[in-house]
Amino acid sequence: MKLNAAYGQLAPAFFFTELGARVAAYQADHPDKRLLRLGVGDVTGPLSPVVIEALRRAVGEQSKAATFHGYLPETGTDFLKAAVVSYYGRRGVALSPQEVFISSGAADDLGAIGNLFSVDNRVLVAEPAYPAYVDTNRMAGRRIVPLSGNRANGFLPLPGDDLNGDLVYLCSPNNPTGTAYTRPQLQRWVDWANEHEAVIVFDAAYEAFIQDEDVPHSILELPGAETCAIEICSLSKTAGFTGMRLGYTVVPRALVREGSSLHHMWTQDRTTRTNGVSYVIQRAGEAALSPAGLRFNREAIAVYQENGRILSDTLQKTGVWFTGGRNAPYLWLPCPEGMTGWAFFERLLHEAQIVVTPGEGFGEGGAGHVRLSCFGSPADTAEAAQRLLTILKNGI
Ligand SMILES: *Cc1c(COP(=O)(O)O)cnc(C)c1O
Repeated sequence: MKLNAAYGQLAPAFFFTELGARVAAYQADHPDKRLLRLGVGDVTGPLSPVVIEALRRAVGEQSKAATFHGYLPETGTDFLKAAVVSYYGRRGVALSPQEVFISSGAADDLGAIGNLFSVDNRVLVAEPAYPAYVDTNRMAGRRIVPLSGNRANGFLPLPGDDLNGDLVYLCSPNNPTGTAYTRPQLQRWVDWANEHEAVIVFDAAYEAFIQDEDVPHSILELPGAETCAIEICSLSKTAGFTGMRLGYTVVPRALVREGSSLHHMWTQDRTTRTNGVSYVIQRAGEAALSPAGLRFNREAIAVYQENGRILSDTLQKTGVWFTGGRNAPYLWLPCPEGMTGWAFFERLLHEAQIVVTPGEGFGEGGAGHVRLSCFGSPADTAEAAQRLLTILKNGI
């Protein structure tokens, strides 16, 4: 009996536990202080009335033999695939329903997509990064080569001709930096991947937050992406579905490597490893992508976008360099001279009762930075902005 030794190489999982414990300890010592939580990476809800209505209707169907649904197609129902196809159609991306694979969320498919690729691949991860890209590949025993996001490249690394890699993970709009590739920038990645026969795994979880016209919502909007990219997306942030668990992955039929169709391989993988997503949740997803659902989502997101505007305006006033706040619900800033993310986290917690996320949670490339989230309540965000202004102007 031998275990997978790669699990021993994972970054310690205690990061968010540690964060929660430090916040709880502070609150226990200072019960009179009100914490302003800009650390959250979760939506605050509630779900839209059309989604709730669809859930009720689907539960009703399951209660009668005449309308009951048992097993469904492993890769998703026709009605939800059609809703996703039409969602892409609004931006001029023509997908066939077979190219859409319904999932229980982006994290699930990020964990499974590696099944298609050899352990020998060189995996490029644009860092700082959502931890799943690195950890799932480490678990599989693959070599990770970090692509450094930094102030010089605006936290949007681009490929040079000499860049060598087989699989590339890109997240745009980005968690944690809030940055997003423009069309010409992302086109450079697509052209590089086609030229080098690499595959891009594109995480579009925050596409619904984009406000700038020149930022693509999907990598598939770009010419050539259908021969080099897999897009992983989710209703988690788009429709407040983090607790519902629903997403989709697009594997274009034109994506072929070593003479094999990745679309065919992913179909094999999914029909083997999963029996799909619950009927009730898929009906809820269909409602979330209906015109009334999309209108509700836009209004919910507008609240987070307004939080982003308030925080951006505040940071601009302090003269502190930062990224994000416009196309994603996060802002990212370097800590004052020489401080670690954890040290700055402690200062902000103790001196301003603001909870942020230390950049160290997003890999070594995140050290010395903190992430501010726009998912806090508008009142807390406005109050936090006032306190940040005072603290950052006076120096910590
Ligand atoms: C929240 C988030 C997701 C969504 O994950 P789900 O499993 O669909 O909830 C995916 N990628 C990034 C970068 C995220 O921040």
